[in-house]
Amino acid sequence: MRITIQNNQKETSVRVAEKLRQMLTEKGFQLVEMQPDIVITIGGDGTLLSAFHRQAHRLKDVRFIGIHTGHLGFYTDWREYQLEELVESIAKDKGDFISYPLLDVEVFEADEMQDSHHFLALNEATIQSSVETLVCDVFIDDFCLEKFRGDGICVATPTGSTGYNKSLGGAVLSPRLEVLQMTEIASINNRIFRTLSAPLVISKEETISVRPAKGRHIIITVDHMQFEQRQIREIRLSLASERIRFYRDRHPHFWQRVSDAFIGETSL
Ligand code: NAP
Repeated sequence: MRITIQNNQKETSVRVAEKLRQMLTEKGFQLVEMQPDIVITIGGDGTLLSAFHRQAHRLKDVRFIGIHTGHLGFYTDWREYQLEELVESIAKDKGDFISYPLLDVEVFEADEMQDSHHFLALNEATIQSSVETLVCDVFIDDFCLEKFRGDGICVATPTGSTGYNKSLGGAVLSPRLEVLQMTEIASINNRIFRTLSAPLVISKEETISVRPAKGRHIIITVDHMQFEQRQIREIRLSLASERIRFYRDRHPHFWQRVSDAFIGETSL
């Protein structure tokens, strides 16, 4: 079993990483930098997002485990005081996993001679304009749904629905669903310009295509990453054929996480 530990730079995370390294080595696990079977992240959801992007080219060969050292995370199931339990569990590992859908982003540059670029997102991708209003046509497959004007468009996975998507008024979706959700970022709606003005959910057979007006400089974000402004012809967003796999032993009920993260104890 080849294990990589990836932690953020918070003092607690560095300390937990050091302790875990020692415990895994004593148990005879091989700690590696490249080609791990399991990646253990120590930090928050942000740390897991960055670990995911490092392994995005080999998702079939890797499982993720998140240990959180801050507040409760959505991708982080273990706490720092459960290290012994975790190491024991990995020692008995049978290769079980739970997997979640990902977003495939294909970007076509205005210059048709350029190859398209592919990205995978765990949470979401957004399309925004650098300074001016974003003006673009939004297609569902071949059907032009609307001409969008506003700050931008966000397309999220089910597990990403609790991130930026939720702040934009999107619904929280069960990760058992194989769907994508599109939300608007500050659309302009008046007597002249009109958008759907509601989140929409597409099936795994459908693709959202965003075609920005010519000459606009577009910013694309994929999870925590932002890509430089370029002139873009089209961005296609669909459910990816790849999925992210989490180590199975401890994976709390999704709605329990939602409740813990957003509602907490009420005074009922
Ligand atoms: P960040 O700006 O440092 O952190 C954004 C916050 O979002 C952190 O508290 C992070 O949790 C949390 N988060 C990440 N994924 C989540 C998920 N699936 N469900 C619920 N909360 C989630 O950026 P970052 O840590 O690199 O994370 C990038 C993500 O931040 C983006 O993918 C986007 O979803 C989110 N974001 C949200 C907004 C917004 O709500 N207005 C704006 C921009 C980006 P941890 O503290 O556990 O890391």
